[in-house]
Amino acid sequence: CGIFAYLNFDVRRERRYILELLFNGLRRLEYRGYDSAGISIDSSFSLDCDAVPPPLVFRQEGNIESLVKSVYQDVSLTGLNLEESFSIHAGIAHTRWATHGEPAPRNSHPQSSDPGNEFLVVHNGVITNYMVLKETLVRQGFSFESETDTEVIPKLAKFIFDNTKEEGDKSVTFSQIVLEVMRHLEGAYALIFKSRHYPNELIACKRGSPLLLGVKELSEEASIGASFDDTKFLSSNGQPKELFLSSDPSALVEHTKKVLVIEDGEVVHLKDGRASIFKFDRAKGEHAGALARPDSVQ
Ligand code: GLU
Repeated sequence: CGIFAYLNFDVRRERRYILELLFNGLRRLEYRGYDSAGISIDSSFSLDCDAVPPPLVFRQEGNIESLVKSVYQDVSLTGLNLEESFSIHAGIAHTRWATHGEPAPRNSHPQSSDPGNEFLVVHNGVITNYMVLKETLVRQGFSFESETDTEVIPKLAKFIFDNTKEEGDKSVTFSQIVLEVMRHLEGAYALIFKSRHYPNELIACKRGSPLLLGVKELSEEASIGASFDDTKFLSSNGQPKELFLSSDPSALVEHTKKVLVIEDGEVVHLKDGRASIFKFDRAKGEHAGALARPDSVQ
């Protein structure tokens, strides 16, 4: 029912700050109604995708405050340091309005590809062909933990990743995987993907459900209040940044006025402090090469 993500680039943020920012994002989305909530953050800082430990996932039935409480309980139980800081970090968050599967932690998002959380997805909407995809994935050896329509999405991403790897192509990008996933999905969705294989990157895409991108350039704090200027928005570079994704402007306005509405069929790739936008061409099953709009929000 609500999705939110926060990526800090080249600016040190403590784990506590990241958690609070994600929780606040969820609180802003609360008014839309929800029955459960969840987040994913990193367990440690890493730039090396071969050495990345699984991202942490916290999911809870009920209101945001019960999620907050359980996260801080788990954090202290597992000895995670709230003061540990990350110069780059990508966190995702979700409030759920159940359509498939009762409200329960296992049905809450992020939904996961496997116990190692190789691919994690938060989803707004409904995947209408999920049964067919689920049957196919079960035949491929995947076992499902939830009754959601969403769980097929991270599992499909892992299936595509594993098969591409087996063909010896290690250079497959996160956006190529998501574009391939989109090719199989029917229904309505706004999605945010986080992956252990692509640390510090996020991918978002949408069809039929709302999605917005927000950019805050930290060394230009003074200009944040200025009126939105497309050209400037798209051309500044090389600065510490905070990037936000949200299904609703209410979770972005406190951070930045630089907000871009993502259109149906677009894929947003947050990487190296930059947001690249691709157009998904369903007929071709691949992105349309030249981009249909300014391609890069640096
Ligand atoms: N269809 C998904 C589910 O039931 C997402 C629901 C939502 O938009 O919150 O888990």
